[in-house]
Amino acid sequence: MKTDVLIIGGGPAGAASAMFLIEQGIKPVILEAHEFPRYHIGESMTGAAGQVVRELGLEAEMFRAGHPVKHGITFYGPNGTSSWFVPVAARDQQGQLCAQTAWQVRRSSFDKMLLDAAVARGATLLRGKALTPIVQDGVVRGAQVRMQDGGVQSIHSEMLLDCSGQGTWLANQGGVTGPKYLGAYDKQIAIFSQVSGAICDQGSTPDMQKGNTLLFYRSKYHWAWFIPLDDETVSVGVVLPAAYFRSKGESKRDFLLRELHELNPELKRRLPEIKLVEDVHAIPNYSHQVKNFGGKGFLCVGDAHRFIDPIFSFGMAGALREAQFAAPAVAAYLGGAGRDLANPFARHQLFCEKGIDIMEDVIDTFWEYPVAFGFCVQDRYPDLMVDMFAGRVYEHEGQPSAVLHAFRDLLRRREERERAYLEPNMDSYSIPIGSRYHPERAAIWEADASTGLTEAWMRMNVAEAPAMA
Ligand SMILES: Cc1cc2nc3c(=O)[nH]c(=O)nc-3n(C[C@H](O)[C@H](O)[C@H](O)COP(=O)(O)OP(=O)(O)OC[C@H]3O[C@@H](n4cnc5c(N)ncnc54)[C@H](O)[C@@H]3O)c2cc1C
Repeated sequence: MKTDVLIIGGGPAGAASAMFLIEQGIKPVILEAHEFPRYHIGESMTGAAGQVVRELGLEAEMFRAGHPVKHGITFYGPNGTSSWFVPVAARDQQGQLCAQTAWQVRRSSFDKMLLDAAVARGATLLRGKALTPIVQDGVVRGAQVRMQDGGVQSIHSEMLLDCSGQGTWLANQGGVTGPKYLGAYDKQIAIFSQVSGAICDQGSTPDMQKGNTLLFYRSKYHWAWFIPLDDETVSVGVVLPAAYFRSKGESKRDFLLRELHELNPELKRRLPEIKLVEDVHAIPNYSHQVKNFGGKGFLCVGDAHRFIDPIFSFGMAGALREAQFAAPAVAAYLGGAGRDLANPFARHQLFCEKGIDIMEDVIDTFWEYPVAFGFCVQDRYPDLMVDMFAGRVYEHEGQPSAVLHAFRDLLRRREERERAYLEPNMDSYSIPIGSRYHPERAAIWEADASTGLTEAWMRMNVAEAPAMA
């Protein structure tokens, strides 16, 4: 089989890439290992993610599907009495903040809706699992694929988009992308499920809306989320150091149930009885970065090359926006642009990295300097922080905002960032602080692998594709 563009993975990055490519006149093939709908984590949208959904023309469909409307995030301090609220807001044509909303999504139905929309617009969906890339003379030319019926097929492409999420399919093959590094938050573990009967807000002001995200802080790297998914169901999860989880010696379920009542008094109040209505899932080691994620005939989009930390729900915003940015770059490449360059996607790659670096700086400042961070949100830069929480980070490429400068100064990484972006060697812009690569972290990954945590996660995400084993 031959196609101009082969997309590996039909999650938000893959489906949105397909729809944006179709707008460019390119009809791709999407290869997805799982039958949709399937469970997936990542349920709260930032303003930027909601905006991409609107630009894809899916707003009416989102309301029709009844996804809860999110007006903002309330963040509770450790005692559960102090809190701050950040609204979802957009920027109007004059650059002024204006009221806007996003959605909370049950990912099984949202991802299916996106994938169905991509197919309805002209993408071809194949059920199967990518095995190995086809590489000829240093150019990626497609993939060997195990199809749903068990047969192995070659799909040849001019361009391959790896949208395989945390499975980081292409990076795991070795030799095509640069190396995959672990981020600082790889020591964390997230344990989560869904509950019924939780107490949601019921007010009329934006900060008291039922569909808002609630975050609960206990201590550094120890927090919980509360994300309403419909009138009955709330997604709840706790995130903390994996070593703490192991030290408790509890099953995932017992651990989650206890933590939900111990982590923060306000969270306990909202869960008078904990009725789980979904399996308990766990994800360790989610923080990673793939170097040189674009090249001749290939590009990684979304989690397939980088994910930092779930605290501010940046994941889908990054995946959807990268999909939007990738489409014109891919169209240009198919039209012949950059074929003579060592990396035809170097500019796109750096642009994406700069955006995610901003997300990283926001997250790192929150963990390292929570008091200063809270001051920036509430007093010093409330409007600029609304942009940050919305995930409007790519807009700052040419001119970092005052709050970003402040964060980088606190983190002592302003000069490194600026110097690194001037450095044409893409492998040299890693900064050895924050969530960047530390060689010694490789040992932690090994340790988690030996406890089965990493293995379990890889199984859940990649190898477990039904009927493909
Ligand atoms: C604990 C946690 C909480 C999170 N909470 C949020 C949140 O509230 N909001 C938010 O925006 N983000 C959140 N995220 C991040 C979010 O889940 C991801 O950023 C988002 O799903 C990325 O989309 P994607 O399309 O890149 O990858 P995915 O959504 O993972 O999609 C990848 C797809 O590729 C398929 N695939 C993988 N390998 C292959 C293969 N070899 N062949 C064929 N198909 C393959 C998979 O089956 C999957 O369907 C969270 C992440 C974690 C870890």
